[in-house]
Amino acid sequence: MTGGEFSLIDNFFASPAVTRADVSLGCGDDCALLDIPPGRQLAVTMDSLVAGRHFLPGTDPWRLGWKVLAVNLSDLAAMGAEPAWATLAVTLPGIDESWLGAFMEGFSTLARQHAVQLVGGDTTRGPMAFTLQAHGLVEPGRALLRSGARPGDALYVTGTLGGAGAALRQLLAGDEEVSDSLRRRLEQPEPRVGTGRSLAGIASACIDLSDGLAGDLQHVLDASGCGAMVELDRLPLMQETRAFMQRYDDWQLPITAGDDYELLFTVPPSREEALRAVLPALDCEVTRIGRIESDPGLRFVDETGIMRRPGHAWDHFADED
Ligand code: ADP
Ligand code: MG
Repeated sequence: MTGGEFSLIDNFFASPAVTRADVSLGCGDDCALLDIPPGRQLAVTMDSLVAGRHFLPGTDPWRLGWKVLAVNLSDLAAMGAEPAWATLAVTLPGIDESWLGAFMEGFSTLARQHAVQLVGGDTTRGPMAFTLQAHGLVEPGRALLRSGARPGDALYVTGTLGGAGAALRQLLAGDEEVSDSLRRRLEQPEPRVGTGRSLAGIASACIDLSDGLAGDLQHVLDASGCGAMVELDRLPLMQETRAFMQRYDDWQLPITAGDDYELLFTVPPSREEALRAVLPALDCEVTRIGRIESDPGLRFVDETGIMRRPGHAWDHFADED
């Protein structure tokens, strides 16, 4: 650690935007000291964003700071946990103060919205990458697992699907005209924290959609030991996403494209009424897209009832790219 890096820590990371009463000691010592309230479990998750792999060079730093936190809060949301603390490992090729200021402004804006305190981290020099660990709190027995889906449960998704994928494909194709609403789906996702909290005690299983519906739903099915049927014409789409799919004749986009950060969850018939009761208070729309079945496997059915077979979801190790 060099002197420059110490002042970087002081200037950008050591004074968090949020201070919580349950932080006995935040940034500045060898460890943070956090008070876990009695009767709560700690939910811990970590995600990295690596330049060139998870974000395009030249991505707006404010949005990148937001997204680093958002993708982790999305994991806490998928467990039904309430966000509390975060630690942030930053690897930077050099010091660009205005870039880093904007990055931390985006980060802090979302941190304030969810009362998350940055309590520590690490700062090193190297190819640009960010790794965040987020800590949340959940009542024992109420965490939403992937393993709880059962045949007969209804399958739901929050928000809309495929927008991030449509934006990414347009940006990669060099299209400068990508609308900001579509671009925000990729660059500034809304973690469904409030909805995840409301679903604890209602959903039988839940996962957040980071790698595409087909792949992420399969994780739920594998963990739960069942299958599912998804009705393609029920998938919630932004108008621009629908237009993109029509233009490129790409019906698979909303099931294979990643980065949506919506929640996919299952609800047993006995809890449908409880779901209806919380719907008006949720921070986003939810749409029923199919059902859990006992036959293993994942079936996509179009509006005429014909089965469609998609390609593979995004897998970082699937091929050399
Ligand atoms: P150590 O060498 O003991 O690991 P460091 O010198 O790396 O400590 O960091 C000093 C303090 O600054 C620690 O409390 C650490 O958590 C905090 N810190 C370092 N980098 C960051 C960062 N990117 N974000 C938040 N806190 C950070
Ligand atoms: Mg130390």
